[in-house]
Amino acid sequence: MTIELARRVRHLRAEGAYVVLARAQELEAAGRSIVHFEIGQPDFTPPANVTLAGIRAIADGYVRYNPPAGIQQLRAAIAEEVRRRNGLPVRPEQVVVGPGLKPNLFFAAAALVEPGDEVIYPDPGFPSYEALPAYLGAVGVPVALAEVRGFSLDLEAFHRAIGPRTRLVILNSPSNPTGGVIPRQDLEQIAAAARRHDFWVMSDEIYARLVYDGCPVPSIATLPGMAERTIVLDGFSKTHAMSGWRLGYAVMPVELASVVQLQLMHVVGCTAHFTQYAGVEALQGPQDEVEQRLHEYRRRRDLLVEGLSAIPGIRCPRPAGAFYVFPNTQGLGRSSAELATYFLEEAGVALLPGTSFGSNGEGYLRLSYCTSLDNIREGIARMRDAVRRLAG
Ligand code: PLP
Repeated sequence: MTIELARRVRHLRAEGAYVVLARAQELEAAGRSIVHFEIGQPDFTPPANVTLAGIRAIADGYVRYNPPAGIQQLRAAIAEEVRRRNGLPVRPEQVVVGPGLKPNLFFAAAALVEPGDEVIYPDPGFPSYEALPAYLGAVGVPVALAEVRGFSLDLEAFHRAIGPRTRLVILNSPSNPTGGVIPRQDLEQIAAAARRHDFWVMSDEIYARLVYDGCPVPSIATLPGMAERTIVLDGFSKTHAMSGWRLGYAVMPVELASVVQLQLMHVVGCTAHFTQYAGVEALQGPQDEVEQRLHEYRRRRDLLVEGLSAIPGIRCPRPAGAFYVFPNTQGLGRSSAELATYFLEEAGVALLPGTSFGSNGEGYLRLSYCTSLDNIREGIARMRDAVRRLAG
């Protein structure tokens, strides 16, 4: 029997990273050696003090239902962190904790977007942004990122995309998949448009602490008149390597926070209790492991950028943030999907086609450098040989 599925789920597709990982694991099970660049999750464990705080919380019995928006101690610690980083006078009531960043992305959008409204999102961009509007019966409007602008938004395309039904604009800086950062002058233009056309902005800042070479990462929420129309999304999966702990948060005006909180109450109940104590420690405890890892990520980025740039046909810009590179492979004369399959099947290198992040990702690949320097060296050597064979 064919199940007649509701329209809101028919468009859903799996994230490319999971699909490639599954194939890579199949090949490994058959005895092949694979270098993994496909998954965007730190290869580190959480800092030891954070893990211990979580274990201690379990031992102390913090394993119960707790308020849907999160324990007060964590909401206060997050408000303090945002104040410290961005200078925004955030109150704990504006903070909604969730099991990862993703639930707040959906619930905040669901609280604002009506069927038929338009949602602008970056393309290439994190796949959940594309899934979101269609799920809500809204219209997704992808806007290209421009390599020549350091993968900030193509601002002309952005202005053209704004219409009378534009309700929400999603930003992500530093970006998955490009590692690009949106500079302040671009944010100022986007903010001016938001005030003029009266739309909301959702700013996914999950990579905001993973930036290199002192690159500033301004938050659009700090610009005049923007705190009242911005939802800042963040979490512990990347900076604190806590992807499986499922802990994230969003900061928004109090009135919206109370509605997002109601959705959490009805859909997930609450976030796991003990992980939130680990979150408090992650924010308030020593930060030296986070700093050391940043240094390590930068070494990896530089090695990967240099190695890929030396392969004929590949041009690899040096991204300012996150843990991805997004090399331009147009010079190889094959589609991104063909190349990704070729590198996996023929060279044992798992990476993602740029098109896993939207059609504007054609001509690019995404490699995550959440892997050791040795693996990066090996991966580059394999790719260099595979490109030589491709040409020959
Ligand atoms: N936002 C971006 C841009 C991401 O790249 C990811 C993970 O890959 C997430 C959100 C997911 O965050 P979380 O694990 O907190 O749900």
